[in-house]
Amino acid sequence: MRRDVRGGQRGDPRRSPGRAGADVPLWSRMGNRAFTTVVQRGLLGDTYRFQVKRARFMSILGSTPEGRHALEVQNEHGITLSWVDGGAASYDGDSRCTLNLNMDAARLAGYFVHEMYHVERKKSGASPDADASPDEQQYVDRMVEEEIEGTVLGFQSRIGQSGPLMPGEEFYRLAYQDAKKQALAGGADAATAEEAARSAARRVVRHLIRPTDGSWPRIAPSTLESYEMYYHRVWRKSHAVRR
Ligand SMILES: [Zn+2]
Repeated sequence: MRRDVRGGQRGDPRRSPGRAGADVPLWSRMGNRAFTTVVQRGLLGDTYRFQVKRARFMSILGSTPEGRHALEVQNEHGITLSWVDGGAASYDGDSRCTLNLNMDAARLAGYFVHEMYHVERKKSGASPDADASPDEQQYVDRMVEEEIEGTVLGFQSRIGQSGPLMPGEEFYRLAYQDAKKQALAGGADAATAEEAARSAARRVVRHLIRPTDGSWPRIAPSTLESYEMYYHRVWRKSHAVRR
């Protein structure tokens, strides 16, 4: 997913190295050692908060089948996590996944599941390379399908989670719950109702990413570009087509 969603805690003053100096009492400025100690305390607070978040992130992933599978994929392919200060999540197509450390841990877990689906597709050769794809539309179709499936998996992994939602997720949940309720009311068993719920919710994701009624996609890499536009651009760049 290549979104530009910002976490709510950007500009946290504790992350700003300039601030630590202002907190240092005058006496300690006399010695570098005391100064360093205060700076380190500030950084230690940040490190601690980050460790807590990462532990929660890992435990959420470990609590769902989609999350556990994503962790296996990460492990199997030696994917390094880069924790950064902005954006949401992305996969570089090689061995690095970037995650926003300011984002809610449960929401981040959904992004991680999505990105590890890209990893799985890429590493298994199922994901097309723009360079090696002669047909532009076919490349775009395959990549947009991959985005749809990754988004479904990310949303599905977060069913039952509280806290802030991922963009468009509320529609997935509504469709999922509604279809499940209807199936159960119609006498379906739990497994059949679950299947009906997932397939209704998947149809909703397809519509949110690639609407066929002329509406603007609700799930897109940015407010200016749909996934379809994005992957057309990737293909054209790769084939040096200027249109
Ligand atoms: Zn994606």
